[in-house]
Amino acid sequence: MSAFTLDLTALPDGLSRVMEKSEARGLGLPEPDWPGSIQATLEVEKTVDRISVRGMLEARARLECGCCLTFFERSVRADFRVFAERAGTGPRRDEEALARDAYMKFHDGRRLDLREDARESLLLEIPIAPRCREDCAGLCPKCGADLNLGLHECPASTDEERVHGGSQA
Ligand SMILES: [Zn+2]
Ligand SMILES: [Zn+2]
Repeated sequence: MSAFTLDLTALPDGLSRVMEKSEARGLGLPEPDWPGSIQATLEVEKTVDRISVRGMLEARARLECGCCLTFFERSVRADFRVFAERAGTGPRRDEEALARDAYMKFHDGRRLDLREDARESLLLEIPIAPRCREDCAGLCPKCGADLNLGLHECPASTDEERVHGGSQA
């Protein structure tokens, strides 16, 4: 059985601690953006046909700073929760409505595939406009130099600006 897929036939009733580990590819995530392995520490509770999964995902993401355009790596932690019931135990219409809410999943009594849920939980932790650091100075609007590297003598500025900029002082 692949990683991030629980074998329900081997899962005991009650609470179990489950560790899962996968390369990014195994979860359908692009490997350049997700270097290293993705790990999950999960508490899985099985009560007859109901499975409740809670835990934490840990990974490293490679992001591009929206300010200075350099790539940087950051660790990503995501809360992970999945509830699943066995398909066919309730009215079909209810099952479809619940599955659409992405709150409740359904399993077949044999396996519970958590890959898509794990992928989505991780992607939700990625900021829309990542910053390499909170006070990133960004790029010089004139020449594109990385201002995080300190003051630069801007080749695109006029002589007057250079004097006021202090680089000749
Ligand atoms: Zn930056
Ligand atoms: Zn410049």
